[in-house]
Amino acid sequence: MNVVDYLRISLIDRCNFRCTYCMPDGDELSYVLQQDLLTQTELLTLIREVFIPVGFTRFRLTGGEPLLRPDVVDIVAEIAALPETQDIAMTTNGFLLVEKAQALYEAGLRRINISLDSLKPEVFDQIIGNRGRSRWQHVWQGILKAYEVGFNPLKLNVVVIPGVNDAEVLELAALSLEREWHIRFIEFMPIGNHDLFQDRGWVSSEALRQQIRSHWGLTDGSVRGNGPADVFQIPGAKGTLGFISQMSECFCDRCNRMRLSADGWLRPCLLNEWGQLDLKTAYRAGVPLADIRQQVQELLALKPEINFKQRESGAKGTTYSRTMSQIGG
Ligand code: SAM
Ligand code: SF4
Repeated sequence: MNVVDYLRISLIDRCNFRCTYCMPDGDELSYVLQQDLLTQTELLTLIREVFIPVGFTRFRLTGGEPLLRPDVVDIVAEIAALPETQDIAMTTNGFLLVEKAQALYEAGLRRINISLDSLKPEVFDQIIGNRGRSRWQHVWQGILKAYEVGFNPLKLNVVVIPGVNDAEVLELAALSLEREWHIRFIEFMPIGNHDLFQDRGWVSSEALRQQIRSHWGLTDGSVRGNGPADVFQIPGAKGTLGFISQMSECFCDRCNRMRLSADGWLRPCLLNEWGQLDLKTAYRAGVPLADIRQQVQELLALKPEINFKQRESGAKGTTYSRTMSQIGG
């Protein structure tokens, strides 16, 4: 059976961007109130007393935008210092990396994924919902800063949307040529902005690979990570290309992860809400940690079954009622 040892932790559901593919148009999202976020102490207690004892050893901090959390560097330092931690990584939009990359590295973070959906400032700003001064340059500086302080692997995430950034696939792939950067193309999922998904559709990883293969050729590659990316390399490139194909392939049988939301819900599967546990409420109500541990252990045993729930016709609590920023992408 697949070992589930990887926890994606959302530190905050808020974000300083409003990416068109991640959040719905127009509507105001409801955010978790400050008092409902897991505090640093609560999070660390749950990691030490619940998650590590049941077998989790690899952690990714995400959001929303994890760098908006004022205590993010301390959280990284505490998780990195736990002897059981085998890996700690982060997914960020990169806007605050110029200021924070050095401190994060010194705190023990070594792996970072930064979203970069376009190399064209105007397209980038349109994607992130920015109407003010362009933010592209600052994100780019953040990426360079992360590279300079030594993050390795440094991965750049691209969600490919037809008619928005699909014409840039070769330019984005070319970022892997000269530097040890790992570009990961993610298939657009109908989570967050259903209207955009309906309007634009999605591009399969195989279609992207064909385009890249016919331009440069592609060989098998490898890069350290915990995820379901298929990894390739342009011959002679320093970095790699990863493809995350959750629309065109099913890797539910290989799933090794659970997600903890910023307000303390433990979610076994991204694509459905079955079996979720409200750990924060249990913890604050004084439920003994041994009992919470037991509940998580039981949920782990159910995970293989829950992974396939979204395919059951009419399954309640199914798929996409929360955005990636709310679940912790
Ligand atoms: N704010 C950070 C960022 O953007 O990297 C971390 C959180 S974000 C929710 C995590 C990842 O989810 C990003 O790489 C983003 O591109 C991806 N994502 C969000 N909505 C998505 C969607 N509908 N389909 C595919 N990927 C999505
Ligand atoms: Fe924010 Fe990340 Fe969602 Fe963009 S993808 S809105 S940066 S959480």
